[in-house]
Amino acid sequence: MLTDTHVHLNAPQFDEDRQEVIQRAFDNGISRMINVGFNRETIPSSIALAEQYECIYSTVGWHPQDAKDMTPEDLEWIEQLCRHPKVVAIGEIGLDYYWDTSPKDVQDVVFRQQIRLARKLGMPIAIHNRDAHHDIIQVLREEKAAEVGGVMHCFSGSWETAKQCLDMNFYISFGGPVTFKNAKQPKEVLDKVPLDRLLIETDAPYLTPHPYRGKRNETAYVKLVAEAAAQIKGLTLEEIAQITTQNAIRLFDLK
Ligand SMILES: [Zn+2]
Ligand SMILES: [Zn+2]
Repeated sequence: MLTDTHVHLNAPQFDEDRQEVIQRAFDNGISRMINVGFNRETIPSSIALAEQYECIYSTVGWHPQDAKDMTPEDLEWIEQLCRHPKVVAIGEIGLDYYWDTSPKDVQDVVFRQQIRLARKLGMPIAIHNRDAHHDIIQVLREEKAAEVGGVMHCFSGSWETAKQCLDMNFYISFGGPVTFKNAKQPKEVLDKVPLDRLLIETDAPYLTPHPYRGKRNETAYVKLVAEAAAQIKGLTLEEIAQITTQNAIRLFDLK
């Protein structure tokens, strides 16, 4: 019983074989998937998937890369969709200083608006952070994100940063990179994250784990992430599956 807490099953990379990909996830023991809707195109298709499959849930939010396109109407739209029974979090939201497709000050405003919305609605938030550790922590702190908590998706920061997130009621989620031989830091951080705050994900079709690195990622491979986590924590695959699934159920209030 595994849970993929961050996946993009509505991405065009799955247009040819989406149903088979979801079936392979079931066949590999993945019982719940949280699909991410993060802009005007992906929000409706993510919700449609969640309506089609009982075990798929959806987030809604505005990605920092698209921050410059978000209008006040979009924010109202997100607020309305948060009342949908299959919507479980606001995300992915945050800051992305790697691609830099939206100006930093615009990303900052859009990020803060969505944290305020999450606090108003009492929804957890899913955080995307690329090369922005310092500013992410500062915004989360200033906007009192600890009130709702959430998840740091595909965490890539230091233990120092992880600790600050844990202090603000966040879970730490790990993906494919913890399976890479040379990924020292994520493995060290995973080792230190308390078991009751640990989540796993694929971020498929991106961030494919070893030994499929370079190919398209898919939800079934969350098992490889779970195996790596089990090895690092000195637990069995079954124990890690149960712990991370219970954590996901608690954070996202899943069935
Ligand atoms: Zn992301
Ligand atoms: Zn993502």
